[in-house]
Amino acid sequence: MSMPKPVLISVDDDPEVLRAVERDLRRKYADRYRVVRADSGAVALQTLQTLKKRNEAVSLLLVDQRMPEMSGVEFLNKAIAVYPEARRVLLTAYADTDAAIQAINQARIHHYLLKPWDPPEENLYPVLDDLLEDWQAGYRPVFDGVRVLGHRWSPHSYAVRDFLARNQVPYRWLDAESAERDKEVREALELAERDGLKLPAAIFMDGTALSDPSTTDLASKLGLRTSAATSFYDLLIVGGGPAGLAAAVYGASEGLSTVMIEREAPGGQAGMSSRIENYLGFPSGLSGGDLARRALTQARRFGVEVLTPQEAVSLRVDSGSKFVKLANGSEIGSKSLIIATGVSYRKLDVPGMERLQGAGVYYGAAMTEASSCKDEDVYVVGGANSAGQAAMYFSKYARRVVMLVRASSLAVSMSQYLIEQIRETPNIHVQVNSQVTEVFGKDRLEEIAVYCTTSGETVRIPAVSLFIFIGAAPRTDWIGDCVARDEKGFIATGPDVQQFAKGPASWRLDRPPWLLEASVPGIFVAGDVRLGSIKRVASGVGEGANAVQFVHQYLGSV
Ligand SMILES: Cc1cc2nc3c(=O)[nH]c(=O)nc-3n(C[C@H](O)[C@H](O)[C@H](O)COP(=O)(O)OP(=O)(O)OC[C@H]3O[C@@H](n4cnc5c(N)ncnc54)[C@H](O)[C@@H]3O)c2cc1C
Repeated sequence: MSMPKPVLISVDDDPEVLRAVERDLRRKYADRYRVVRADSGAVALQTLQTLKKRNEAVSLLLVDQRMPEMSGVEFLNKAIAVYPEARRVLLTAYADTDAAIQAINQARIHHYLLKPWDPPEENLYPVLDDLLEDWQAGYRPVFDGVRVLGHRWSPHSYAVRDFLARNQVPYRWLDAESAERDKEVREALELAERDGLKLPAAIFMDGTALSDPSTTDLASKLGLRTSAATSFYDLLIVGGGPAGLAAAVYGASEGLSTVMIEREAPGGQAGMSSRIENYLGFPSGLSGGDLARRALTQARRFGVEVLTPQEAVSLRVDSGSKFVKLANGSEIGSKSLIIATGVSYRKLDVPGMERLQGAGVYYGAAMTEASSCKDEDVYVVGGANSAGQAAMYFSKYARRVVMLVRASSLAVSMSQYLIEQIRETPNIHVQVNSQVTEVFGKDRLEEIAVYCTTSGETVRIPAVSLFIFIGAAPRTDWIGDCVARDEKGFIATGPDVQQFAKGPASWRLDRPPWLLEASVPGIFVAGDVRLGSIKRVASGVGEGANAVQFVHQYLGSV
């Protein structure tokens, strides 16, 4: 059975413009998408409802701003509720540019286009191609890709889904608990029973299945690379967040044989961010997942060897060469090394947490879990930007989002623009002076205990999902004494090396260490893991690119 093509909708009250838009859309996209038009916001909303009932996919809304009765922004605001994932593009005249910029926040539009856009090859298609590619990455057609069958509250099921999502593998989630309602789930369960599969099971298009797979099983089945093609490189990068990816792209594009090792999935922390608002060149923001996917495509295009999931477990330096041991026991050598291992989430250390992690309690996993929180109350712990962004993202799906903030106000740790967005979102409730002190539940989260720091009272609240964003710490233990670190584990570079470099980690050259260089010549550090770094996507990307310049300088000097 073939699926209907996803729909592109254009909305304009001017019949001539509408015809022109439709013609341009058809010419380029008719083979993959169905083009539908509407001459007013009201008609378009009706169309959306009908498509929703038929369970059809809508990928793009291309909407004129100036329409009588309902403006483009008003329409898009309503459309979010029906098709939150559809890409929203506003068509504006030059005079309406200000309105369009304001609409970026209000109707969360992805892009605005100025009329007229002739020739479309230059002014229309590149923008739409980009947006449709982003949409496709999150789109899960019913009969394509991997299906994951499991229990929603099982930590293992969660790990499998999270791994697939973060490696941009399209999958369909089959919740074993919905077997009564859902024929597809029932059939999958029967198949699992017949083949003696343990849940969660990953079921592939070719009819094969993996029983309770590890991420390594999944990686090899999906053809993700986990071991190196050769054993010696010009540049070895550990960590595939924004800093590592940038280093990989610049290194390979400038002719260095480059390998990148990533423990979980490329994208790092940024891959978990639902919306990065301040990254240059994306005026309407972009999701961390989209940024990661684009960067990975770019890195692979330049020939970077990407090993994932693969973890660096130790480091040694021998006659100037750097050797990194991997979790599978093998070793990779390189002339130069860039460490870009970022930071990891700080754990909330209260009774019950360990047991319920992945079963209602999550760290920074907004993207994967949001749609399963539909019509529920969601609790978010933390008061900094990452917590705020997550709350905004959940507010699109959840009935209510409660932010539990330890401080007495958000102003202490959150950017002003986010505070304003949160204030304007009616289903987000901010509860200050509040600390989670215990979590309860048999197989999954059922209740949380919240301590109020002003009244001194603790109350127990029923809760099914709790998301934690309380900061992060570097994980650099694998480096041992090789490279100088501060007491928290951040790696010292450049002018800071002197203060921390002692014993085996001492600096031994006549020249001082370069700006991003660690206490060992030829080892550079980029991004959040570096002592004194600014914890931003753009800073990580900038440092990754700069580190490659120092690698060239180093390779030229030895
Ligand atoms: C929810 C959230 C929202 C955010 N929003 C914004 C925003 O809007 N704007 C902004 O500018 N910044 C934002 N940030 C901060 C930004 O994401 C980070 O500053 C940035 O990701 C740092 O990049 P990095 O490459 O240094 O490290 P990371 O992103 O931490 O990446 C490090 C990578 O290294 C891997 N790794 C670690 N150890 C090993 C090992 N031993 N072997 C192999 N691989 C390893 C990890 O798995 C990880 O993928 C946000 C962060 C979070 C958590």
